[in-house]
Amino acid sequence: MFGKGKPIEIKSVDELALMRQAGLVVAKTLEKIRSEIAVGMTTADLDALARESIADHGATSSFLGYHGFPAVICASVNDEVVHGIPGERVIESADIVSIDCGAIIEGWHGDAAISIVMPDAAEDISALSEVTQSSLWAGLAQARVGRHLSDIGHGVEECIRGAGGYGIVEEYVGHGIGSEMHMHPPVPNYGRPGRGPRLEAGMALAIEPMVTMGTANVQVLDDQWTVVTSDGAAAAHWEHSVAITDDGPWVLTSLEGTRL
Ligand code: MG
Ligand code: MG
Repeated sequence: MFGKGKPIEIKSVDELALMRQAGLVVAKTLEKIRSEIAVGMTTADLDALARESIADHGATSSFLGYHGFPAVICASVNDEVVHGIPGERVIESADIVSIDCGAIIEGWHGDAAISIVMPDAAEDISALSEVTQSSLWAGLAQARVGRHLSDIGHGVEECIRGAGGYGIVEEYVGHGIGSEMHMHPPVPNYGRPGRGPRLEAGMALAIEPMVTMGTANVQVLDDQWTVVTSDGAAAAHWEHSVAITDDGPWVLTSLEGTRL
């Protein structure tokens, strides 16, 4: 699974600083959407907010044109897990809306996602989003020099299994990130600990649990992008890009640039 022997890009201190700049643009863009989203807006409206934010911060989009993707965010609503294309869909008061965003500064990428629970959503939808976010942080906490890559997925999985009753999507996983958005190695959200390469300072990974209320089975809609749950149950998606440093995990896409 981890592609034995394939190199993982190692970033210099200066390159990680540029990745932090890109990550901060992503963080601010997601925060803008989180604070301005309202019932009656379309997912295309959210994309327009993001376009403005990315441009205002002097960055470019990682997503626009990626394999032909037509927008700067993915907006995935309710049973949509990831890769929803912004369009005319109207946000309703009980929705869960997952927004994924990527930005580039001087060739270096940041990638993060949040799930937004609208005010009238059922309590179990809020719980789904919270456990997904918690599992992300459990994974981020494993992004340390000397740990194995699979310790991250194990941390994510333990958190979700501990909560009980959720599905972990396996077909889509996190990834290395840096001079490209999607790089080696894949970072699954499950697995046994102590496997795969050892983590080294200068590596950067995007960790992104996708968690469902029911089955973990997913399918892709006819638009060739949107991934939905096979049973129609709701899903959540949280993501951060993290740098492995000698001082511990550095969460490049949090507003605060959190160090764990
Ligand atoms: Mg992403
Ligand atoms: Mg990603």
